[in-house]
Amino acid sequence: MSGKVLALSGGVGGAKLAFGLSQCVAADQLCIVANTGDDFSHLGVAICPDLDTVMYTLAGLANAVQGWGLEGESWQLMSALDRLGGETWFRLGDRDMATHLRRTALLAEGLSLERVTASLCRALSVEQTLLPMSDDPVRTQVHTTQGWLAFQDYFVRQQCAPQIDAIRFQGIDSATAAQGFRQALVDPALSAIVICPSNPFVSVDPILALPDVREALIGHAAPVIAVSPIIAGAALKGPAAKMMAALAMPVCASAVAAYYGDLLDGFVIDNADSSERSAIEALGLPVLQVNTIMRSTEAKIALAADCLEFAASLS
Ligand code: GDP
Ligand code: CA
Repeated sequence: MSGKVLALSGGVGGAKLAFGLSQCVAADQLCIVANTGDDFSHLGVAICPDLDTVMYTLAGLANAVQGWGLEGESWQLMSALDRLGGETWFRLGDRDMATHLRRTALLAEGLSLERVTASLCRALSVEQTLLPMSDDPVRTQVHTTQGWLAFQDYFVRQQCAPQIDAIRFQGIDSATAAQGFRQALVDPALSAIVICPSNPFVSVDPILALPDVREALIGHAAPVIAVSPIIAGAALKGPAAKMMAALAMPVCASAVAAYYGDLLDGFVIDNADSSERSAIEALGLPVLQVNTIMRSTEAKIALAADCLEFAASLS
């Protein structure tokens, strides 16, 4: 495929497709924008879970079994902290902690999160452009019977157990999309925009909710395609399906397509969802039906290649 590719990503689901894309597109032609709504400050350090999942995945350092953090990690810090009565509900490996310490130090020197991320990526030999969606703090919160909870409290500490009835992104109205993200959106060489199979409500929505982003995608000359994170009525991981049910949406791929609505030019569903095709086509959206389960390196690359070919066919 010729031209630049922009991918919008959360953590695990997004990182898998981002990796696939990195194997199909020259490094200087691929820009990945990651959600920062999950970011938080914890134990005195700045943690950016989705940025780090994508960064570690592109660097070939990700722990594939765990789905987050680094391969071959050690946990001395957590054990020592536990012994001292410190908070250990958010697991931070020893080497992972170095990332957060370095990020925190660079932010304290006054660098933007975009520049800090570039610096970390350079150090880990990630050649693609990885950007935070914004340099400004945006914090996802979910409303439950316990009131508003910070995202990591809900997601990690309480393992998504509380029932959710609303989601908000604190700080979104005064946040601006990162400079590199804004530039990518107006780059005449941009030829495809791929919304990765990430959680639509807490991974993709924060990116789309930034001022002017949704409008830019709707009016964009390059095709915008999304890969469904819902396969056969379920999420492969995480609370996406539960959130759909809580938000009174049917739990199926076509509901995700309808949710993204008019910003899409095409939608990618899994082979298991052939029964969803007509409902998506009825929305006026071309459908690509392929294997979207990315268990192996080959599957990630194949899905990325399929997405690029599909986008090219739509432009
Ligand atoms: P998080 O930020 O780490 O929670 O991850 P994301 O938001 O990027 O991804 C979570 C979503 O990815 C879930 O809804 C999963 O169903 C979806 N997902 C994970 N792996 C795959 C996969 O291999 N294929 C597809 N189609 N979806 C996936
Ligand atoms: Ca996330």
